[in-house]
Amino acid sequence: MFVGHYSVRFAAKSERNKIPLWVLFIAVQFLDYIWATLVLLDIEKLRVLKGFTAGSMLDSYFHPYSHSLIAAIAWSGVAALVYWAISSRHGCRYRASAGLIIGLAVFSHWILDLVAHPRDLAIYDNKWKVGFGLWNYRDPEFALEIALLGVGIVLYLARTVMPVIRRKAVVLFGVFLVIIQIGDTYVPRTPLTDKATVMGVWIFYTLFVVMAFLLEKIGRKRQINSR
Ligand SMILES: [Zn+2]
Repeated sequence: MFVGHYSVRFAAKSERNKIPLWVLFIAVQFLDYIWATLVLLDIEKLRVLKGFTAGSMLDSYFHPYSHSLIAAIAWSGVAALVYWAISSRHGCRYRASAGLIIGLAVFSHWILDLVAHPRDLAIYDNKWKVGFGLWNYRDPEFALEIALLGVGIVLYLARTVMPVIRRKAVVLFGVFLVIIQIGDTYVPRTPLTDKATVMGVWIFYTLFVVMAFLLEKIGRKRQINSR
């Protein structure tokens, strides 16, 4: 599961909770940030195998600290508490529910991974592995990713007041993510090493976070001026 994760981030964003879009971008990929970091540190293990599944080359045979169910619940709780603590220091009015939304956004990653991954997600430690394996079916998996992303963006646009220019930018950003997903799913490439793969994860996810940050700046000045 790749761009599908960003559906939750767009859908969770609304006027009421005031969570910046870029924070939600980090939240929905929080477990993968931890995973990429732990693989770099040689604590979690990854094999990159050509043709491992139809839609992914990643054989995550040991990732209990980032991707077991118990770990996912714990990290979701940690993220919720951290966001709650930071936002209450800044006097945000919707801090309690915002913390909960962050926690749910982090946990949503595990649910979507459960759909996509082969049986490599442990319940706890490295035991009782689950995963519905949609990665084995390339086109349905791709369709699901794009459908989720589309629904997320539509909900975001429907529920958020924003200048027209930013609406256009959001749609463009959606198109950009679809192109990235096409590349990820369909363009054949030689497998990178495990370290290079997770470095790529870090770089791409952070690029998306920066783009989300900039996206919310678009047209802001005009919006303030017109009040
Ligand atoms: Zn993941």
